[in-house]
Amino acid sequence: MKKQKKSSVLLIYTGGTIGMMQDVVTSELKPFDFKTLTQQVPELKKFDIELSSIAFAKPIDSSNMHPLVWIELAKIIKDNYSKYDGFVILHGSDTMSFTASALSFMLENLNKPVILTGSQLPIGIIRTDGKENLITAIEIAGSQVKGKPVVNEVCIYFEYKLYRGNRTFKYNSSHFDAFKSPNYPALAEAGVNIQYNKSALLKPTTKALKVHTHMDNDIAVLKLFPGISKKITSAIINTPGIKAIILETFGAGNTTTQEWFANELKKAIAKGIVILNITQCLEGKVIQGMYETSSHLKKMGVIGGADMTFESAITKLMFLLGQKLNNTQLKKQLLIDLRGELTE
Ligand code: ASP
Repeated sequence: MKKQKKSSVLLIYTGGTIGMMQDVVTSELKPFDFKTLTQQVPELKKFDIELSSIAFAKPIDSSNMHPLVWIELAKIIKDNYSKYDGFVILHGSDTMSFTASALSFMLENLNKPVILTGSQLPIGIIRTDGKENLITAIEIAGSQVKGKPVVNEVCIYFEYKLYRGNRTFKYNSSHFDAFKSPNYPALAEAGVNIQYNKSALLKPTTKALKVHTHMDNDIAVLKLFPGISKKITSAIINTPGIKAIILETFGAGNTTTQEWFANELKKAIAKGIVILNITQCLEGKVIQGMYETSSHLKKMGVIGGADMTFESAITKLMFLLGQKLNNTQLKKQLLIDLRGELTE
């Protein structure tokens, strides 16, 4: 029988707790030299997967993440796409869902796994969650059936669960189980075996990978609360230069029906600003027109963001604005499920 070729995985280290060590003097967590990772995780040498790695010259805490770094990551994947069967990105958990969402849009027609992982405790600490996260993420990134990858999308693997990246958000800063994907089921669960939820995975495509490297962050966010003033609302809506606003609304996409509020939104729409309505609820979706308190939004041309997470909504907007689409095309794309990020 023909021996199956070993699969190859590229590990990209951006920073985050997983690669940090405690400073002996100040007790602060600081990034350590990535070259010592195999000393920390000797199990990596035993893998039946060819492992290569790239480390950021200056690893970052993911709170310093920026669209320019996403572009850098997308380019690394583009340059190495044909050389590897899968990719694992080591990343801080704080903004991991933003990066996973952004990459899902930037990597069109992805036909290989891109798995982001990290940890809540540094890998050098005995009780670290980093080892299991890293080892299983690599295993998933290298998983193939009949020479084809099992996973063809950007995911987050954390604490025994594989999620679609653009469906996640970080909900817990102290538990190992740090991510949730309330509106889409886990893609896999790691127990004794890794059980894939095959029907939930994105289907492979025959189209060639297209990497988008323009992200436009001229976006304002207006999070509603009872009693929000006209002064604040108007200051946000009239921020010079913005092209889009994310409206974080109540329940199924509802807002106050006060006239001044509707007028501010209408003025923005008249100026060509795109307004996307997403809900502050973590589960469920925006249905404009379900209540009187959202019908006015639909009538004036606010776009309903369905069940998109905030992370997905903001990165999808950055991606679409980066495409320099006209407003009609942009609004159409916002409503469409591009990478499994929303339920139409
Ligand atoms: N602050 C860290 C980061 O996001 C936390 C973590 O790694 O989980 O980079």
